[in-house]
Amino acid sequence: MSYAHNVNAGTATVTITCEEGNFIGTQTATFRIAPAPCSVGTVTAAVVKDSLNPADVVLKRTDTSRPGRLALKETKLSCGTNTYHWTFTPKDANYASSSGTVKITATKHAWGKPTYTWAKGDGSCAAKRVCSNNSKHVEEETVKPVRKVTTEPTTEHTGKATLTATFRNGAFKTQSKEITLPKLSKTSQAEAAKSSTATQPTYTSSASNSTSTSDAYKLPATSDSAQPVAPIAIAGMVVLGLGMAIRARKPSWR
Ligand SMILES: [Zn+2]
Repeated sequence: MSYAHNVNAGTATVTITCEEGNFIGTQTATFRIAPAPCSVGTVTAAVVKDSLNPADVVLKRTDTSRPGRLALKETKLSCGTNTYHWTFTPKDANYASSSGTVKITATKHAWGKPTYTWAKGDGSCAAKRVCSNNSKHVEEETVKPVRKVTTEPTTEHTGKATLTATFRNGAFKTQSKEITLPKLSKTSQAEAAKSSTATQPTYTSSASNSTSTSDAYKLPATSDSAQPVAPIAIAGMVVLGLGMAIRARKPSWR
């Protein structure tokens, strides 16, 4: 009786030779030797930044006792965290290859063109862009526009103002629009004349996207009325400055 190739996994052969008795001849039989299971432990992947190329994925296994190749089955990655399949092929053919799943975070945003939406009444402007590699990736920013009156409205004529919306996200461009300020009503002007401090006229936005007349809103207190306050503030600072100068001089008089 002799054996061949029966140490390694694969097909082995056994040869039986009889030379005595009733049976004379050789009988050959084959049998399979199954490869031994091979542990890889837990498979993890490092985060891939700014790439969706599977070649950029670094897979790691906690059990590295057997040499071999750990590879991803997928040929494409999706933007975000997703589940992928790995296969491990041991170098030693006596060990079986294994497979499993691994979560991989890979991001490469493909941002679409930003869209800008002015709120009804123009109180705010919202910018938004969506990643075409994953629609769940959205960047949004809503800002209050800065308002500048370019033509003051009178009781005879309408006025004009420019609204400018500036975003922190550099991907969003500054948006501006011109709005028409309605004529001042005679009563509101009379009231304004009576009062020593300027009253805030109520303007109605006449922008194309707002049809409702209920969109009336008041001028922010920081825009026009803040300007006359500035000289007073400067005057106050000058007085303060003088006071400090006098104090600073004091020690030299002694
Ligand atoms: Zn994305």
